[in-house]
Amino acid sequence: MRCSAYKSDGTPCRGEAQEGLTTCWSHTPENLAVLREAGRRGGRAGGLGRPSVFVAEIGAVKKTLRGIASAVLSKDPAKRVNRADALAAVQALNGVLRALDIERRVHELDEAELLLEEMAERAKRERAS
Ligand SMILES: [Zn+2]
Repeated sequence: MRCSAYKSDGTPCRGEAQEGLTTCWSHTPENLAVLREAGRRGGRAGGLGRPSVFVAEIGAVKKTLRGIASAVLSKDPAKRVNRADALAAVQALNGVLRALDIERRVHELDEAELLLEEMAERAKRERAS
């Protein structure tokens, strides 16, 4: 089921409603409080609970890259890896990093949009009262 909320531009939210609810995660009132809190913290840590996932994933890629570097540079023939293989792996990991960066930027835009919606809602309520 689609989320029943509307976005700030008046178009219906395309999010998937949560089980047993009529709204998606972002449009559920208690989660708006979470988003508000995230906005207060500059949307850096925590946010939708996802930036920490990016940090973890980037951390994993960095660890793998370090592993490759030490294997390529290793004096121990048993640990050493083929340079071409290492290069291919590093290129693939660069692709992963780029994808993560794009995802993170999309996430930040989503978050900014939600915060704007929330602020617009609040302004509307204040005008009404
Ligand atoms: Zn929604």
